[in-house]
Amino acid sequence: MGNSVCVYVESNNRTIADVSLEILGKARDLADQLSSEVAALLIGDGVSNLASELIAYGADKVFVAEHPQFTFYLTLPYTRVAADFINEYRPDIFLVSATNIGRDLAPRIASTMRTGLTADCTDLQIGDYKFGKRTWKHILLQVRPAFGGNIIATIVTPENRPQMATVREGVFKRPVADSSREGEIIQLKPNITEEDIIFKIVDRVMAEKKANLQSARIIVAGGMGVGSRESFELIRELARTLGAEVGAARAAVDTGFIDREHQIGQTGVTVRPNLYVACGISGAIQHRAGMQESNRIAAINIDSNAPIFSIAHYGIEGDLHEVIPKIIKVYKEKS
Ligand code: FAD
Repeated sequence: MGNSVCVYVESNNRTIADVSLEILGKARDLADQLSSEVAALLIGDGVSNLASELIAYGADKVFVAEHPQFTFYLTLPYTRVAADFINEYRPDIFLVSATNIGRDLAPRIASTMRTGLTADCTDLQIGDYKFGKRTWKHILLQVRPAFGGNIIATIVTPENRPQMATVREGVFKRPVADSSREGEIIQLKPNITEEDIIFKIVDRVMAEKKANLQSARIIVAGGMGVGSRESFELIRELARTLGAEVGAARAAVDTGFIDREHQIGQTGVTVRPNLYVACGISGAIQHRAGMQESNRIAAINIDSNAPIFSIAHYGIEGDLHEVIPKIIKVYKEKS
């Protein structure tokens, strides 16, 4: 398995997290370029039946580590299982989702393995890296915004293995499942000691998710140009009319116009809906990082020089407080 691309697969309530399937699709691309194989590492309790789904989504080998203590994520035992797995099977690349769990797990694995980790990559490629007289061939190019998004950095881990990166939900496209794919399922024997289980989860309370941006087909997003928390009702009304979810630029969130879970961009969520309507949003690079892969982008802005117009397919130059009520009126009349 020496040069394989491995994905740590996150599952919630015995369902594979979308982000893991997205990363699996990218892992397949990378492994094909390397002429190697894709491995998936699945840790949990009663998760074996998810293995065939992972094969359909591109895994060649699925390694399953089950244990009654693994019903919920726990830092130490999960790190132990992942590190033991890496030590035994030596994958060349190890990818983790940049979720709350992934952000906890990935650095601990990297530190245990004494290797590097690039968080929140926006792209992953295979390429060569030259430094001085040396060239490293076919290594993982880990691409992510740096210095507040003002530069796009390509980070490499030339010497240490595995090459590790985390990726947020929505960055890569979810592949199409192929149920005719064949693969191998390997059961691991977790080597867990009492020292690894120093925490026990006695109860879990789930907060209700108010925004479901990542699966939205249409998003209406507002920025500072909306002007106030009260005026955001106009954005909500347009969203209701179009059957859309409500998004926001960070400045509007920071000012208190809307809650943080609506934030789109580098430090918010990454989305790729069919239609993204940006209202009173300037289009800063950090905002664009989270929405520029949308199929169609419409922008309403009073400033004809606003950067958002450079990526918009449809642009309306005007005051959103006048434009949006007109759109709502016409849309209601026509539909
Ligand atoms: P502004 O830039 O102030 O733009 C407001 C726009 O509204 C202007 O273009 C103006 O012409 C227009 N306008 C004003 N009045 C009207 C009106 N009546 N009708 C129509 N248009 C009007 N930003 C994000 O969005 N998401 C992120 O995840 C994010 N992460 C960041 C991470 C870092 C490390 C840093 C440094 C910054 C980050 N930012 C992020 C902030 C980003 O740089 C911008 O400051 C932010 O996106 C600006 O938000 P805005 O477009 O709402 O505000």
